[in-house]
Amino acid sequence: MNMAVQNGVCSSCDYTSVNLKQVRRWGGLELCSCCNYWVRMSLRRTKRVPAWIRPDPDMSGDEVTEMREKFLQLRGTHGRGRWAERRMIFEMGFAYLGPLNDNAWELALSALGLREISNGDVLANVPSEIIEEELTKLERSGIIHLPSNPFLRAHLALLLRGDLGLTKKRRFVTGLFLWLIGDDEFRGRDEDAWAKSFQFLQEVVNDLGDRADFVDNYIRVIGSSGNAYRIRPRPHSPHYIVSREGEDGKNPTICIDPINAHTVVFGDILVNLVLALYDDQISARHIDTLARHVFGDPRAGHLGRQRRNVNIEHLWRRALGTMPDDQPGPQEAFQRWRRVIDRFQTNLADWNEEEEEEE
Ligand SMILES: [Zn+2]
Repeated sequence: MNMAVQNGVCSSCDYTSVNLKQVRRWGGLELCSCCNYWVRMSLRRTKRVPAWIRPDPDMSGDEVTEMREKFLQLRGTHGRGRWAERRMIFEMGFAYLGPLNDNAWELALSALGLREISNGDVLANVPSEIIEEELTKLERSGIIHLPSNPFLRAHLALLLRGDLGLTKKRRFVTGLFLWLIGDDEFRGRDEDAWAKSFQFLQEVVNDLGDRADFVDNYIRVIGSSGNAYRIRPRPHSPHYIVSREGEDGKNPTICIDPINAHTVVFGDILVNLVLALYDDQISARHIDTLARHVFGDPRAGHLGRQRRNVNIEHLWRRALGTMPDDQPGPQEAFQRWRRVIDRFQTNLADWNEEEEEEE
């Protein structure tokens, strides 16, 4: 699984690189030293979902995105079926978009345009072994709730077997894919947006010179306070973990949660994190959990003055430029900058476990 390739194009960021690492599965991937661990961790998170669960090859990226939006909307609508709530997403470690009761299943099928069935009588005649067999496949793939209504169960079995046509089967399987794999995962990514975000991450780390680097399986950032931070891939949501290198060899974890990060491509979240940690003396005013690490040590200010200080305003501007609405005036730019920082404001209510096991 871990062969090195001399020279080639990274399957994640599209940059030409040396010493690419190979992943044999998923059609063969080659990954550069920036992307390798992030992609691997993402593949690990989604490995339970079998390869046959994938978007309809005849659907465009926009159509798939549109379908995902529908499920995000359904999940956000109260009183219309049961869907995963934010707390549950943290407990499960991933954002599950699938239905959680029969009512939600019906809404989900409607959203997919699969609710209607031309000959309803057929549902009464599906043998129970076939229903069991098909629904077991769903369960094994990670579908959390299976409907109890016998007609609904028969309907799903027919859809999965392709008895209602290949087009409907593919549409249904696309739905399953969207419920199980978020667009912040490698397998669910928008290829161009993902590649750009990881290219940007490499540019930013380069521009920060000796204060940021890709080290083995983490990104190392030295803050303006003199603190050294590590951003590592993490199996659960939010998919990364930040720690501070301690002098005693212990690396205390800092809980930084990206609020509304689902609106941002994953590599951009890492860019914002790198910049926030680089600017830690300023960021700490907005991120409570970081403040303890930055202001807790009285020597930090002294060390900070000795550090080379690169002007990173242009990097912030580019990071902000990737946000939905563009062209800010100077006043507005500052507000936006605040919002990016606030994106990492910790929401302690969502966290039960503070410390993470080391890989
Ligand atoms: Zn790469």
